[in-house]
Amino acid sequence: MQEYDLVLRISPQEIEQQVERIAARINQDSAGQNLFVIGILKGSWMFCADLIRHLQMPVEIDFVRLASYGMETATCGEIRITKDIETPIGGRDVLVVEDIVDSGTTLAWYVDYLRKFQPASVRICALIDKYERRSVEVPLDYVCFRTEKGFLVGYGLDYAERHRNLPGIYEVQFSQ
Ligand code: 5GP
Ligand code: MG
Repeated sequence: MQEYDLVLRISPQEIEQQVERIAARINQDSAGQNLFVIGILKGSWMFCADLIRHLQMPVEIDFVRLASYGMETATCGEIRITKDIETPIGGRDVLVVEDIVDSGTTLAWYVDYLRKFQPASVRICALIDKYERRSVEVPLDYVCFRTEKGFLVGYGLDYAERHRNLPGIYEVQFSQ
């Protein structure tokens, strides 16, 4: 594996602040709903765990795992579900929680798929909107951080399954 350094981009304190800000908005928009939260594995689990602790309405949570046949650091081609949610979502108010939206391919595909089950509403919450390579439009209702580019790890995000446990978010910088 090529050698690399990790450079801190977002501190745990900044994450906490943004998670609280986004949770407050969700609390306003979804007051009175029974929210069905779907976390996209593996990357969003830490974000989900923090986010739902600030939600004040009744919340159910389930997880989906999506696999894409792509390169190591970019999504391209076919997407499939390798672990599905286990509750019917017909008529439910759904909040999909994703770690990073890059090209938009994964999330656009999944939201399209979810709509076939006729939920009452589907909203999307992303920890990071990485917009430079966006090729498929996907409406992001809640975003904690926006960044142009860079490969990020930590706070649930991995590089080759490493670094998910870091409390901050770091950029991977490969040695020349
Ligand atoms: P998209 O389909 O939007 O191109 O890719 C989305 C998925 O690619 C994300 O859910 C994430 O799993 C992965 N991904 C995109 N950018 C990054 C990144 O900077 N770091 C990590 N760890 N994963 C990323
Ligand atoms: Mg992901």
